[in-house]
Amino acid sequence: MPLIALKHLCPLLALMSACVTAVSSAHAAGGDKFQAPLTPCERPLPEMTGASHSAGPPIPSTEADIADLVAAMTLAEKIGQMVQGDVAHISPEEARSFVLGSLISTIPDGTLETAARWREVFDGYQRESLKTRTGIPLVFGIDAVHGHAYFDGPSVILPHNIGIGATRNPDLARRLAQVTARELSATGIRWTFAPTIAVARDIRWGRTYESYGEDVSLQTLFATPMVEGLQGDDLRAPHTVGATAKHFAADGATEGGVDRGDAVLSDAQLRAMHLPGFVDAIDAGVVAIMASFSSINGEKIHGSKAMLTDLLKGELGFDGVVITDWEGVRLGELTLKQALLAGFDMFMLVQSWREGLPEMIQLVEDGEVPMSRIDDAVTRVLRLKLRLGLFESPYSATACAQWLGSEEHRAIARQAVRESLVLLKNEQGVLPLSKTSKVVVVGSHADNVAYQSGGWTKKWQGAHEDLYGNPARPVPGATSILDGIREVLGAARVVYAGESDVSDEADVAIIVVGETPYSEGVGDRAAEELVLSEAHRQLIRAYQEAGTTVITVLVTGRPLLINDELARSDALVVAWLPGSEGLGVAEVLFGDYGFSGKLGFSWPRNAAQIPIHVGDDQYSPLYPFGFGLTY
Ligand code: BGC
Repeated sequence: MPLIALKHLCPLLALMSACVTAVSSAHAAGGDKFQAPLTPCERPLPEMTGASHSAGPPIPSTEADIADLVAAMTLAEKIGQMVQGDVAHISPEEARSFVLGSLISTIPDGTLETAARWREVFDGYQRESLKTRTGIPLVFGIDAVHGHAYFDGPSVILPHNIGIGATRNPDLARRLAQVTARELSATGIRWTFAPTIAVARDIRWGRTYESYGEDVSLQTLFATPMVEGLQGDDLRAPHTVGATAKHFAADGATEGGVDRGDAVLSDAQLRAMHLPGFVDAIDAGVVAIMASFSSINGEKIHGSKAMLTDLLKGELGFDGVVITDWEGVRLGELTLKQALLAGFDMFMLVQSWREGLPEMIQLVEDGEVPMSRIDDAVTRVLRLKLRLGLFESPYSATACAQWLGSEEHRAIARQAVRESLVLLKNEQGVLPLSKTSKVVVVGSHADNVAYQSGGWTKKWQGAHEDLYGNPARPVPGATSILDGIREVLGAARVVYAGESDVSDEADVAIIVVGETPYSEGVGDRAAEELVLSEAHRQLIRAYQEAGTTVITVLVTGRPLLINDELARSDALVVAWLPGSEGLGVAEVLFGDYGFSGKLGFSWPRNAAQIPIHVGDDQYSPLYPFGFGLTY
């Protein structure tokens, strides 16, 4: 079975094995985009952090201490630090005996529903790791790409990046990143594999929604505030987390929008369109950068010394950790030697750490990889831990627990939902709807928080799928778009017609339809496939032919070819993938707030136009980059 397929099964394997069970539209009236940062959680006192860390060697507190520590480490200890395993495949005792440096947190579904339980698990690993000769703490990382969306409890799921791009509001993005950081810290995680600062140049790509938009101007608008929001002013503070800018570089430029494909680019194109956001992230102090699975001009980035060492570490001066993608070396059919020499510091060897770790030791012992390369890598890994304050405070802090799923966080997420909505059509000012109207709400996406949250929610492919033998669970504390409409209008004025009923009980129908969740290459599509399902098209047709006023709300990770549905709709709103706060959609439909969202992607007229970009010679999209009606 290819490793990528194993990724789907990973939580199931863990359950079966003995593995660890382990604003601004603001307001219609206008508003201030510049707001104060969120209040930090208080720094935990040492005694709050649990077990003592005083038995081992002196705790490094400077770069010089790190150099001394590296000089005193054995080869096995150094290579161990360069390996990232997976909580689902490694016990705390194994993490200790192999002196691993990091763990990615793929927690089995349904096993850990409280922040306290997460902290207990991570602190259990940490306790073991601190018993090693060097006493170097582990660092835990997770894919929190739109809030702490893998948490089983009531975390706030933020809009995916395509929606944040539509807000054009970097200050709001900074606050959203702060929300993510506080919620992660509450569960003991201090490192996220985010933000994705891809410039998606082809909407056929299954990761289009992880991108802020098709143009470098959006990459640079958001890279800095996202990193600053996650990392805060002082990364040692417990309400902050290390950020990872990904995927270096030009992951969104592959031919045909094929995930992990090949980007055919000149050096000038690479530098003009795909690097500036990384330069900004580095300036903002990003602690890690993840390489892209993809290739540039036929060369796999995971094996490219020119990209990772000469460009990233040399020319751009990046002094943090360069990390592989998930089993990126093997999936790229490269060798560990190639990847080590290319410049990686940490290897995400999720399933293959048992073989990979001794192989790397052997490569150094055989003189195939110089010790200087290993020392560079280990120094960077230890620098990451120093920056995060892990040497002094290795255990999780309880200080942020109060913020997890808090009303304050939901309010910020809701603002982002409101500002992300793009109004494409509003015939005769049908929107905003009056609060005295009676409406039919219908469509498979109207009352489905999993659909409105998209991929990377609870599970890799999204919360809707029963991939792992568990029933799809709702997201605690979330509101669907239907919930939101009922709240704004009063339940008595809302007729819910389910997924597909055609009701004549009201003159206005809000039809909520769109894409079903996917992530990565699973979401790659041919241009002709970027359409609504026949059932969704039929639903819009049926209401329009019945003479009902049709308000179509699209839940989607990218522009879709919807000319016919547009013609049949009186108003059309693109909601992207709003996440857990469906109320934000309702607040704008009924005029509590205005529309301010602008397209971060050109909306194509037809399949033949894809890919289309602002700045193209023959630029004639259905709606241009930057389009968005207001009231
Ligand atoms: C994705 C990365 C992600 C990693 C860890 C990979 O498949 O490309 O974006 O951070 O998995 O889950």
